[in-house]
Amino acid sequence: MGIETKSISIEKVKTSRIDQIDFNNLAFGSVFTDHMLVCDYKNGAWELPKIVPYQNISLDPSSKIFHYGQSIFEGMKAYKDKNDAIFLFRPLDNHKRFNISANRMCIPEIPEDYFMDGLTTLLKLDSAFIPTNAGSSLYIRPFMFASGKGFHASPADEYKFIIACAPSGAYFAGEVKVLIEQTYSRSANGGVGFAKAGGNYAGQFYPTQLAIAKGYNQVIWTDDTEHEYIEEAGAMNIFVRINDTLITGPTSDRILDGITRKSIIEIAKKEGIPVEVRKITVTEVVNAAKAGTLKEMFGAGTAAVISPISAFGFKDTDYALPKLDTPYAQRIKKIITDIQYNKSDDPYGWRY
Ligand code: PMP
Repeated sequence: MGIETKSISIEKVKTSRIDQIDFNNLAFGSVFTDHMLVCDYKNGAWELPKIVPYQNISLDPSSKIFHYGQSIFEGMKAYKDKNDAIFLFRPLDNHKRFNISANRMCIPEIPEDYFMDGLTTLLKLDSAFIPTNAGSSLYIRPFMFASGKGFHASPADEYKFIIACAPSGAYFAGEVKVLIEQTYSRSANGGVGFAKAGGNYAGQFYPTQLAIAKGYNQVIWTDDTEHEYIEEAGAMNIFVRINDTLITGPTSDRILDGITRKSIIEIAKKEGIPVEVRKITVTEVVNAAKAGTLKEMFGAGTAAVISPISAFGFKDTDYALPKLDTPYAQRIKKIITDIQYNKSDDPYGWRY
């Protein structure tokens, strides 16, 4: 299957901006490649995708994205190995999740060939932008939103699917200090927490700003009723290690089904690390910290891969995590990144 590559029209830039990019000092997601993929949904169908120079988009002020936030996105990365071959990590899972998010937000699904053929054509064209420095990669942002017009609060009749890419360095500079949230929540039962809907992230900004003002980097989201179950770490899934057991909460309609999370669970099982997928309570984590059995906490997601947590705050007390010689975080991160950068075998079949 697959749309024929020739059906993707390509308009190339006249002059590349690649010389303006300092590949030795890349921030995360702030400089962009020369081109982007654009695909319009009109009259009940997706038109053929186009690759055009990276540029502004023009929208009617009544476009529903501005008023009702009908918008979703994905986050993926492309990696280059030492021979300049390009790899993706489980991209079909991103495509599936994109359509799960789309359905929840009443946005039309994007067919797999539009997504994958569009993405691979774009990556081949902008391959010079995929960084080769250790820890750097090309961050890929597929997104879809309601471009259709009208102030009526109902799903739009027109949508745009865009893929834009940003050569990027590390997401977090170092270890992160987190605050266990006791007032605000990221998502609710029956809500849209499992979808990568734009508004989920806007809603996180305010509580996160409050945590930052108190000296933390991120919020640990808890459930919306009791604030007693540990759910996610900022825009990452969360893992807790008590003694030798790695624990992460089950996915639900409040938690995003992270690709890094499920990869870590599989790797841990194969490595013989005891791993449990079950609810984790704040009380359990605080008691383990007091008893010295809490060994590690880390966030897991595409952007940061694995982000070790150095300390957490709960009700005006900070609890530091111990410094271990060979934490699971480091061991598992190496296994994942070696697969991503084609530095090892891939017994799981995740490299694309
Ligand atoms: N939770 C949330 C809320 C996220 O936005 C992300 C990033 N996509 C994750 C978890 C991690 O998911 P993944 O490993 O697929 O990047």
